[in-house]
Amino acid sequence: MKIICIGRNYTEHIAELANERPKDPVVFLKPDTAVLLKGQPFFIPDFSQDVHHEVEVLVRINRIGKHIQPKFAHKYYDEIGLGIDFTARDVQQQLKEKGLPWEKAKGFDGAAVIGKWLPKSQCSAVDALSFSLEKNGQLVQQGTTAHMLWGIDELIGYVSQFFTLKIGDVLFTGTPAGVGPVAPNDVLVGQLEGEEMFRIKVK
Ligand code: ZN
Repeated sequence: MKIICIGRNYTEHIAELANERPKDPVVFLKPDTAVLLKGQPFFIPDFSQDVHHEVEVLVRINRIGKHIQPKFAHKYYDEIGLGIDFTARDVQQQLKEKGLPWEKAKGFDGAAVIGKWLPKSQCSAVDALSFSLEKNGQLVQQGTTAHMLWGIDELIGYVSQFFTLKIGDVLFTGTPAGVGPVAPNDVLVGQLEGEEMFRIKVK
C-alpha cells in the first residue's frame, strides 16, 4: 500500500507558508511504515522541535488504475476518510531551502494518521465536504473540499499519470489553513461532515 500526498491544495494554506501557487499539484509519498497504528498515541520524533498537524481529507483507492481520466476517477474510490499529515516543519524548511526531497520531514513513523472510513454514498457531494481539527477542544483547522485548487477526481487523474494506483492506496488531498505545532499531551480530534473520524493523543 502506498500513501500519495498532495501539497499546497488550498489557497489560504499556501499564503500562510509563503509558498508559490503551484502550476501543477505538488506530490510526495509516505512509506507504509508512516501509518500510525490504530489506538496508538503519536510520538513526537526527537529529530524535530516543530512538528505540525495538517488535517486532510483522504480517499481510499478500490480499483487498480493508471492514466485515469478525471471524469472516470469517481469509479476508483468508494470511501472517504480524514487524517493528519504530520510534518516536521523545521526539517522540511531545511530541506526546502536546499531543494531536497521532503521524505525525512513527512515520511517518518507515525506521520500518517488515517482515521475511520465513511462510504462515499453516505457523504454529500465529495466536492463540498466540511471538515475540521480540534486541538485540546479548540478549533484549529477548518475547511471544505470546495476550496481545493484541484478536486479529488482531478487529483486522481493527475497522480495516476505517474503512479499506478492499487487497491488500498490512500490519497491525502492537502491541508487548509491553520496548521500549527503539537506538544506532548495534546489531543487532536478530526471531524468530517460533523462525524468524529479520529482522536489522537500526542506524546
Ligand atoms: Zn499535507
